[in-house]
Amino acid sequence: MPYSYDDQNIFAKILRNEIPCNKVLETEHTLAFADIAPKAPHHVLVIPKGAYVNHDHFASQASDAEIADFTRSIGRICAQLGVNPGEGGNGYRLIANAGNDGVQEVPHFHMHILAGRNIGPMVLMRD
Ligand code: 5GP
Repeated sequence: MPYSYDDQNIFAKILRNEIPCNKVLETEHTLAFADIAPKAPHHVLVIPKGAYVNHDHFASQASDAEIADFTRSIGRICAQLGVNPGEGGNGYRLIANAGNDGVQEVPHFHMHILAGRNIGPMVLMRD
């Protein structure tokens, strides 16, 4: 089934400057901004500027330039936050939710960067 992108999603509106955001980084292909409801002292959302619904859409259809820019932007933000273990930082967690089982709320691909405290168990365990 082809991907269907809803251009009325909240991140599409942020990209069109229809609603504000607290910008952390902007490059040719990528925008990063603070999550409106932070779950950690640092909670940054990183999104491609292209219209991709989720990670599998991005991974299969984005250009190499978009993917490289996105990945390196995440690295730059973690460096800015001072959380890269390779640079003496205390670490971070990256999360990309997708679809129903991933409990994705906003249907524009995004990576969460969570840092600034111990982020806790990877997932809640349920029977
Ligand atoms: P998801 O569940 O889709 O992986 O995460 C969506 C995230 O977007 C949530 O953490 C939520 O707090 C954040 N969010 C929802 N609406 C807005 C908004 O208008 N502005 C910002 N900055 N973040 C938002």
